[in-house]
Amino acid sequence: MHTQTLKQLSALLKDKQISATELAQIYLGKIEASDLNAFISIDAALTLEQAKEADERIARGEAGPLTGLPIAHKDIFVTRGWQSTAGSKMLANYSSPFDATVVKQFRTAGMVTLGKLNCDEFAMGSSNENSFFGAVKNPWDKTAVPGGSSGGSAAAVAASLTPAATGTDTGGSIRQPAALCGISGIKPTYGRVSRFGMIAFASSLDQGGPMAHTAEDCAMLLSAMAGFDEKDSTSIERENEDFSRLLTDGVKGLKIGVPREYFSEGLAPDVEVAVRAALKEYEKMGATLVDISLPKTALSIPVYYVIAPAEASSNLSRFDGVRYGHRAAEYSDLSDMYRKTRAEGFGDEVKRRILVGAYVLSHGYYDAYYLQAQKIRRLIAQDFQQAFTQCDVIMGPVAPTVAWDLGAKANDPLANYLADIFTLSTSLAGLPGMSIPCGFGQGAVNEKRPVGLQLIGNYFEEAKLLGIAHQFQLATDWHNRRPAGI
Ligand code: GLN
Repeated sequence: MHTQTLKQLSALLKDKQISATELAQIYLGKIEASDLNAFISIDAALTLEQAKEADERIARGEAGPLTGLPIAHKDIFVTRGWQSTAGSKMLANYSSPFDATVVKQFRTAGMVTLGKLNCDEFAMGSSNENSFFGAVKNPWDKTAVPGGSSGGSAAAVAASLTPAATGTDTGGSIRQPAALCGISGIKPTYGRVSRFGMIAFASSLDQGGPMAHTAEDCAMLLSAMAGFDEKDSTSIERENEDFSRLLTDGVKGLKIGVPREYFSEGLAPDVEVAVRAALKEYEKMGATLVDISLPKTALSIPVYYVIAPAEASSNLSRFDGVRYGHRAAEYSDLSDMYRKTRAEGFGDEVKRRILVGAYVLSHGYYDAYYLQAQKIRRLIAQDFQQAFTQCDVIMGPVAPTVAWDLGAKANDPLANYLADIFTLSTSLAGLPGMSIPCGFGQGAVNEKRPVGLQLIGNYFEEAKLLGIAHQFQLATDWHNRRPAGI
């Protein structure tokens, strides 16, 4: 029961084989018993209240496809009822007076909230070790990281503590944890999903998206999640779409661009084997592979790690001890209160980024760093447009390695940044990107650790990406694997 996909659970609800309340109880029980540290807050009474409402709606015959199905939210989306912490001490006791648009949309669809999921502090990280609430364990191998920053979301879905979760992706935080935990996740085109109520990290990059076992489930979720929101100034005005509409399209004749730069030196051999096998599978289904180049790939790291911290330093200035969350207990005057509040409330990685961001925006350095980064960002986006004249979709690895050991890179920020090499450019260009499970690593340790295949589409081609991913999942069973003991 509890290892099922949303699609399967929705059929059970429809046939009245289970109620929303029973479903919520099963998952709450599993969350209670789990030792992964995937959840930051749960409130069984609140969850069961929502489940009861869903059951009433089902009984009235007013249910939609998602009504009664459970979901949990990355703790970067503010919610009424549960705490909204962004994984930070700064907001450890913060209660939002409103729901993020995304949370509201899933509530309107009748989904039942299971609670809030652990993540790197303000979504800064790739291993979930930067959370004030402690690291999350990878359910496939509890000595490994789940990836980040949506590590709690990925671990919770992989361990079937929830059939669906929200994540946010600024530079890879949906795709990379999905890959490292063997689940599916999609980062939509920038502007597709409302950022209202999504605690900001880097506003020109942040984008919410769904995480679940399958592409089919992600399509269902995205159909409810996407849409214009006048409360988000960068939200795109477009008709709402049914993202499931292309699931049955075949891939015959599909031209898959394989970027040379994604199969370079840094790629671990076992990840390469799994990704190449997935590409072979697509060839078997009638697609053709095209050798392409994304020449600025390596520059995405310095560019992202200038732009994202610059925006973060500005966004995080609001945490000053006056308006939200933590305030130092003792201080001599106003400046001292600001200083102490921020020194106590932020963790090391967040402080590092605020410092870098303030530096690259400062007088005398703005042109040399920030402006230069913006120019290269444009060139990175152009590289993709050039590539899409040769192919319909781009595929490659999500991350250069499988999940690493907890603690292995915890004190080495640079090593973490380098591991983002294959996901940052998509974010900088604002393109949709997806991760689907395509195998496991090799060797005694790595053979338990999943590998993800990345699919990158042109702007607004989420439905096409989801269809291409679904075809792979019809032909393979990686998405049906579950960690031992689940
Ligand atoms: N790992 C990247 C970072 O640390 C991306 C994080 C994200 O997408 N939120 O910034």
